[in-house]
Amino acid sequence: IDEVDGNFARSVKHCIFSKSNPTPLKDPLRLAAISKDVIEGILDLDMAVTQSDDFLHYASGGRLPLGSVPLAHRYGGHQFGYWAGQLGDGRAHSLGQYTNRKGEVWELQLKGSGKTPYSRSGDGRAVIRSSVREFLCSEAMHFLGVPTSRAASLVVSDEPVIRDQFYNGNVKTERGAVVLRLAKSWFRIGSLEILAQSGEIELLRKLLNFVIDEHFSSINSDDPDKYLVFYSTVVNETAHLIAQWMSVGFAHGVCNTDNFSLLSITIDYGPFGFMESYNPNFVPNTSDDEGRYSIGAQANVGLVNLEKLLMALSPVLSKKQIHQLFKAKLGLLGEEEDDGYLIAFLLKMMEDTKSDFTMVFRQLSEVPAQQLHNRNFTQDLSSHKLFSDWLSKYLLRLRTTLSDCQKYLTDVNPRYVLRNWMAESAISKAEINDFSEVELLYHILSFPFVTQETAEEASYAARPPLWAKRLKISCSS
Ligand code: AMP
Ligand code: MG
Ligand code: MG
Repeated sequence: IDEVDGNFARSVKHCIFSKSNPTPLKDPLRLAAISKDVIEGILDLDMAVTQSDDFLHYASGGRLPLGSVPLAHRYGGHQFGYWAGQLGDGRAHSLGQYTNRKGEVWELQLKGSGKTPYSRSGDGRAVIRSSVREFLCSEAMHFLGVPTSRAASLVVSDEPVIRDQFYNGNVKTERGAVVLRLAKSWFRIGSLEILAQSGEIELLRKLLNFVIDEHFSSINSDDPDKYLVFYSTVVNETAHLIAQWMSVGFAHGVCNTDNFSLLSITIDYGPFGFMESYNPNFVPNTSDDEGRYSIGAQANVGLVNLEKLLMALSPVLSKKQIHQLFKAKLGLLGEEEDDGYLIAFLLKMMEDTKSDFTMVFRQLSEVPAQQLHNRNFTQDLSSHKLFSDWLSKYLLRLRTTLSDCQKYLTDVNPRYVLRNWMAESAISKAEINDFSEVELLYHILSFPFVTQETAEEASYAARPPLWAKRLKISCSS
């Protein structure tokens, strides 16, 4: 949680929420709508309490439920195909979670409740027009059986709010309103994207673990593949949600990744529309000129958004898989706490000394331990001042002797890869119809792990010749 006080717009780092107090709507307040189903069925309240002045204030940000610490959520998102950076709750405040009599946990949120650190140039308000639409549609979707956020109440005020009515170019003064809305979780694809994009990987992992533990009870938190299972669950559920949208003729209107829920519920009711005259190209949002989010495009757009989710997950997915492969390259059996460190330590020394990647791992698989100690390692790496430190740590970590381990290391660390200079020399011969070198390389590379006793093989396993530094490879093909 970002502890900086104040609702001034800013770029926020290293947190998932910012503390932010609602700015109450000005009196007089009126209760414009109430959902009996939510008040009684979710909030365990008697409808009579909603008729009090107190309720008006609780439902519009003037009073906070006991113990509530109002928060604005930091998220990002891809808007109309482009990464938009930090977005966040610019006009919404989460009041906290309520566990009801049925044991369900619901997160309560006010929308239109004033500025937050994420308001950017916005005023933090919502007008009556859009609030009525959100109130009615979220409840309508629920009764249609489509997974959705819910709305408990709609409070309107006389507070003036200025909006650009784009269809006639006029600026119009409207009135402010607040919807009290609920969801099991308000986390979205953009909640993860912002952390991945800012390199906040530990926080990304923390949020993912939290979401999985709280909302994906079928996923075992010890499952090493839990992030993959999470991803495939979201893919399935989102596909199912969009199918349900299509079956009732609902077009969301703004299918940006910040408006796509991780729980695959419908969130963010803006310029949505229900299709009337049947038209697969129906576009509900008049500012969506290209029809990017037409009703018929939604399945495709969902797929694009799920690809963005995969990108956001990649730091936690690939790291683990790369870690496993590097452990195998070093012959590290089992999992010890310092394995990641041991790998990173070696790679850093290789970087410092510009060691040849393929050769280092191959020599580790071939050179006897005693010779490694005598700095008989690849010319460069053994010159590193920390090399012997690393080597002792490594030999200690192996659960066997190095020579036992090397029996299978040579099957993991190739001796030959297709280096640019090799391809280049085969190409220049091929240009003059001499394909002998293509054939030779083909044979060498067919057995990348086997030491081959041809005249050329030693050079193919060695550092590239100096002239290879000049080689430039482009996409032109
Ligand atoms: P939306 O198009 O509704 O998904 O909103 C995109 C972003 O703009 C979100 O971060 C919203 O919180 C923010 N936003 C929209 N309207 C306002 C407003 N009136 N004041 C502050 N932020 C807003
Ligand atoms: Mg939104
Ligand atoms: Mg919106």
